[in-house]
Amino acid sequence: VDNVPPRTRSRMMAGVRQRHTAPELLVRKVLHSLGLRFRLHKRDLPGSPDIVLQRWKTVILVHGCFWHRHGCNRTTTPSTRSDFWLRKFERNVQRDRECVGKLRRLGWRVVVVWECETRQPIILHRRLRRLFRTPVRTGL
Ligand SMILES: [Zn+2]
Repeated sequence: VDNVPPRTRSRMMAGVRQRHTAPELLVRKVLHSLGLRFRLHKRDLPGSPDIVLQRWKTVILVHGCFWHRHGCNRTTTPSTRSDFWLRKFERNVQRDRECVGKLRRLGWRVVVVWECETRQPIILHRRLRRLFRTPVRTGL
């Protein structure tokens, strides 16, 4: 949260999900490089998933480590008002779980990409390529 401008932070805290974040853009770039077609923020699916690959019946959720509690070293908890934060995080995690459940019941494969994974684009590229078993292409 520290790197986030105050306006953005208050929107995030109000539960308005950020779209077109840097991690999301990176995932989209990787998918493009793999020659995959996708739709964005489909509102007719539970939680309007960030990225939807219709042909592959797959949705990709790009999760910020802080807000969605990845458990990596970016998953910090503010020391002030920690009760507030813990409740907030709990709700986020619960909502994520519900969305994933609904999507799966509708027959979608759900792939979560964590923000910290987008810091290692080559590894992410490899992971996504494997998921979609597409031929190797050069360049990210
Ligand atoms: Zn993480």
